[in-house]
Amino acid sequence: MERWQHILKKSLIKAHQLSAEFELDSAKMERVVAEYPARINPYFKSLIKEKDDPIYRQVVPDEQELFDQVGIDDPLNEEGDSPVPSVVHRYQDRALLMLTHQCPVYCRFCTRKRFVGKVAISREMVRKGIDYIRAHEEIKDVILSGGDPLILKDKELEEILKGLREIPHLDIIRIGTRVPGALPQRITHKLCRMLRKYHPLYMNINFIHPREITDEVAIACGRLADAGIPLGSQTVLLRGINDDPEIIKELMQKLLAIRVKPYYLYQADLTRGTEHMRTPVECGLEIMKGLQGRISGMAIPKFVIDLPAGGGKIPMLPPDFVIDMNEREVLLKNYEDKIYSYPQPEHEPEHDKVGCDDCLR
Ligand code: SF4
Repeated sequence: MERWQHILKKSLIKAHQLSAEFELDSAKMERVVAEYPARINPYFKSLIKEKDDPIYRQVVPDEQELFDQVGIDDPLNEEGDSPVPSVVHRYQDRALLMLTHQCPVYCRFCTRKRFVGKVAISREMVRKGIDYIRAHEEIKDVILSGGDPLILKDKELEEILKGLREIPHLDIIRIGTRVPGALPQRITHKLCRMLRKYHPLYMNINFIHPREITDEVAIACGRLADAGIPLGSQTVLLRGINDDPEIIKELMQKLLAIRVKPYYLYQADLTRGTEHMRTPVECGLEIMKGLQGRISGMAIPKFVIDLPAGGGKIPMLPPDFVIDMNEREVLLKNYEDKIYSYPQPEHEPEHDKVGCDDCLR
């Protein structure tokens, strides 16, 4: 067994372990964990400094998860776009392939709360997913997801990557993961040597709070980047955890410094069991306004809402950046609230052949 597997094995999972560790009511813990499984591995637990801090809130079960009257089990209607159980095929040229229901930690805000840690994805289901992708030539880009694909053993993951790389029409493979930030010991040299055989390979990593950027995480991301894998980040805005311009600014700057390019800042999905963590949309817009002009453009993510019921992602910008737009000019307000005019190009009026002396000659 590798070191990361030993660490994972020592995770807090059971209600009595959690209630003893965090001095919580064990009956309440039992009820929450029965509905939504918990896993806090010892590395991630070591980042918790005190009760209710931004790391604690991400992973310690909360009774409020059971009282959500707003959220829905499958907020993005992934099941409606699922031709076979392991695949979500919403956009024509891209598909999501789920490899596992396991993760390095079970995030309380997870969009796939309905099945992570609960409903297993068998190897046969994954094989059928690969068959589906092989049979659909329009799919050029596959996103490996779950659960967390990097929780699979190297051999299992390689078998899947090899199977996908044998599909001639598939150009890009992306991996969506929280492992580099939540269990960085998993990013071994051996794993990176294996991954680099399957380029072009991209990785989008889930990071929520700047306290997750530790020395171990910097080493893990450095190894992946050295293996030639472009790294992007995905961050969900969460109430009382990272809903603050200064926190997001610090996170984005730290990510860039460890070679992870900020990619998406997400408005939280309408997932059942997470309503107490959702922020108003204005909060994300204010944060985006606060980043503009104050940090490198390289460190600014795209703020998006993934529309309920599978409507897709919509990029959101603070509305007051564009004050007015007409044929002559665009009036814009910059990050210091100063107003500027950007002139539109002047087009020649359309040529009037009937009234033109040259044409009549
Ligand atoms: S690691 Fe990803 S899939 Fe797993 S619980 Fe966290 S957000 Fe959900």
